[in-house]
Amino acid sequence: MKPRTAAKVAAQESQFDVCVIGGGATGAGCALDAQLRGLRTVLIEANDFASGASSASTKLVHGGVRYLEQAVKSLNLEELRMVKHALRERRFMLSNAPYLARAAHFLIPVYSWLRAGYYLAGMKIYDLIAGEGNLFPSGFVSREETLKRLPGLKSDGLRGAISYSDGQFDDARYNLALVETFVESGGTALNHAPITAFAFAENGKINGAMVRDAITGENFRVKARKLVNATGTGTDLVRALANPSLPSRMRPSKGVHLFFAAELFPGQDALLVPQTEDGRVIFAVPWQSRLLVGTTDDPASDRTRMLVEKEEANYLLRQLNPYLAQPLRLEQALSGMSGLRPLVAGPRQTNTSKLIRDHEVEVDQVSGLVSIMGGKWTTYRFMAEDTIDHVQRELGVPLTDSATKHHPLAGSAGFDEQFSNRIEKEYSLAADIARHLSGKFGSRALQILQLLAENASWNGRIAPELPVVQAEIVFCVRNEMAETIEDLLARRTGAQLYDWKQSLMAAPLAAQLLAQEKERKAGYTAAAVEEYSAKINGFLTELGLEKR
Ligand SMILES: Cc1cc2nc3c(=O)[nH]c(=O)nc-3n(C[C@H](O)[C@H](O)[C@H](O)COP(=O)(O)OP(=O)(O)OC[C@H]3O[C@@H](n4cnc5c(N)ncnc54)[C@H](O)[C@@H]3O)c2cc1C
Repeated sequence: MKPRTAAKVAAQESQFDVCVIGGGATGAGCALDAQLRGLRTVLIEANDFASGASSASTKLVHGGVRYLEQAVKSLNLEELRMVKHALRERRFMLSNAPYLARAAHFLIPVYSWLRAGYYLAGMKIYDLIAGEGNLFPSGFVSREETLKRLPGLKSDGLRGAISYSDGQFDDARYNLALVETFVESGGTALNHAPITAFAFAENGKINGAMVRDAITGENFRVKARKLVNATGTGTDLVRALANPSLPSRMRPSKGVHLFFAAELFPGQDALLVPQTEDGRVIFAVPWQSRLLVGTTDDPASDRTRMLVEKEEANYLLRQLNPYLAQPLRLEQALSGMSGLRPLVAGPRQTNTSKLIRDHEVEVDQVSGLVSIMGGKWTTYRFMAEDTIDHVQRELGVPLTDSATKHHPLAGSAGFDEQFSNRIEKEYSLAADIARHLSGKFGSRALQILQLLAENASWNGRIAPELPVVQAEIVFCVRNEMAETIEDLLARRTGAQLYDWKQSLMAAPLAAQLLAQEKERKAGYTAAAVEEYSAKINGFLTELGLEKR
């Protein structure tokens, strides 16, 4: 990415065809699609890229087994169509960034033959809907094989499992790779810059937006022929800035996850818990040396607290533990995350777990604002294609094909399955560091390792038990627009998901490297560390985990 100052100048001085507001998966996808179609595009994000729902997902690239069940039970063709679209998109997501997304095996344990038949029939329909895009065929797995693949599963009464395949990915890094690819294609992207108002032409249509630079406090204007609102749960607020008479459409729903050491429930396969006390499913998924457990689904309001509440954590353990030989305890949790699903609903729909995860493109005829609402991570590309089709129609330019189906993302060129082994040997790296760098940055890891020629001490870890090296921090500050400790630890390096306490330990060094690179004022480091520590200690305290 361009340095932030250069991106800001470009954002201020250029006349754009399209301004995309919101740098989550949807906005980054829209920006890339528009830029690749030859539209001059700017992407403006209020906080950090991927700081909303797009880094808080279960990290599944999936059609949605639960949505399929809902669709079949209620004969909902719309929902079935959505599962089909998602399964088609799954293939594109996996092939466009192989270092960030992969096919994974899931097991649904069964304790009665009736249930086994029910789930197997369901998963065969899932395979059928996926068609040529199916990853591996589903099937019945014997009790012995199930316990071999998931040795931590409770064996009492176990008949076996139904296996099926879906995708798994690194959501925050995928989002960042979309932004990077957009910038490489000639686009301009700026983070920490909320849109605060719109500028209107004489005909009442919006032709620009007022932006506040949250780092410097300056305000400036961005000029664009068309503005796209991709602000997730912020969508209604932005729609109201353009046209206060628009009715609200978003029904945000909160979901939380916990992370544990992977050894506590060993195995390469993921577990799907098929029934919860509120009629949903939850997952326990091996993810980057951790076990990811989630999620919840509760309607959110202005009073919703954005952290994992103890009650929510206990709910997750209550659903998962009956399936485990050795129950997990809350005090074993290493970290967690919470997020808001930007669901879109009709005026009377309130039960968020029943809302289908479809998307809708709205063109406000009064202001001209194009809003993309709803959807899910897996369908971000399809949503972006639909949105930019609308944008081209609105601009009155010829409709061109989206070029994103087969467009490898930054870090994919030169990456293959041996990449991690190669850099481990070539740069004498510890195996966990090599795996981490190749899994987060793909072939761009080489640019990080080249920084060691500038300062050999940057090969040190930022905390003793994290696979993150100092060179990675410097790289992300110089090349990925990281502006805060949280940008670095939560989204660029993933350290905060690996381990909250280790991240607290890493914060002073991360802040110091950031301050050096950015020439921040004296006093910055202490204040930034204090702010970050207060936040993470708040997460720990809420769950009754020992503070540092
Ligand atoms: C708990 C949970 C689990 C999920 N699991 C999965 C899963 O496994 N698979 C899947 O496919 N999907 C999953 N999803 C859904 C998926 O994460 C979301 O649908 C997707 O990330 C939404 O992306 P988005 O860009 O629309 O929203 P967001 O990621 O929230 O991005 C919106 C962005 O807009 C910015 N913004 C807001 N207001 C302004 C403004 N005024 N100016 C500029 N910027 C602004 C915000 O800062 C934010 O970064 C899950 C979601 C949650 C919460």
